[in-house]
Amino acid sequence: MALALGAVSTPLAAQAGLDTVQIRTTSLAGGVYMLTGSGGNIGLAVGDDAVFVVDDQYAPLTPRILAAIAAITDKPVRFVLNTHWHFDHTGGNEHMGEVGALIVAHENVRKRMSAGQFIDALNRQEPAAPSGALPVVTFTDGVTFHINGDSVVVTHVAPAHTDGDALVHFTKANVLHAGDTFITSGLPFVDLSSGGSIHGVIASAEKVIAMTNEGTRIVPGHGAPADRARVRAWRDMLVALRDRMTAEIRAGRTVEQVLAANITAPYLKDWPGGHERFVRSLYRELARR
Ligand SMILES: [Zn+2]
Repeated sequence: MALALGAVSTPLAAQAGLDTVQIRTTSLAGGVYMLTGSGGNIGLAVGDDAVFVVDDQYAPLTPRILAAIAAITDKPVRFVLNTHWHFDHTGGNEHMGEVGALIVAHENVRKRMSAGQFIDALNRQEPAAPSGALPVVTFTDGVTFHINGDSVVVTHVAPAHTDGDALVHFTKANVLHAGDTFITSGLPFVDLSSGGSIHGVIASAEKVIAMTNEGTRIVPGHGAPADRARVRAWRDMLVALRDRMTAEIRAGRTVEQVLAANITAPYLKDWPGGHERFVRSLYRELARR
């Protein structure tokens, strides 16, 4: 099911090019939905106990996101779980906190949001987040929410996309939100400046494969929902590219030579975005060892 909800123009939204963004709701399974708009995919679990949200895109979009949620339930958002610190996944934290949601994330998310961050690969300086946007409950290895007759198992994975990534598994609904450790819109963004690592992205995919089954609906950080077979293909692709890059570096090639060799071309159709950025960060990470 897809439902689009109206655009609201505010100076901030217009400035950020968000004033025409519409929030679309897709029902996945067992009272769990995916919301798209701009930024990272949002997970939403609705039930008798609580409304549980995974990530919240950008601040100007919060009223539209809340309106999309209100189209499904009249219950307030009780929890917001951040899969990692990036601005397109946590931008709505402050507003969500203002409507009473408890913000929960890995401790490194709070650390990075509390201080300004420079993201090398994006050449972007991100200011420290306002105190109202900071997670108030943090975890190290993981945490479980017992809500709506479901166990929502949140698992921290070793440095992957960043050093504060978490997987969110709605065990009974059989839905898993992978944050940006898995995307279907292109090759991964391994944010080395946020402690990310290709080895962790591969390990996270292994963990997702181990935690799920053939019927699991998997919410990527960006792109369309997927199944476990797609995560296997992602894992296999990343292992092959890591091995290929290792061989290229051993052969003494420069990053420009590797780019010219177009090693990611076979994956362009199924994973269209981010190829040059991926190759540059992969080379940087493996060449520094
Ligand atoms: Zn991200």
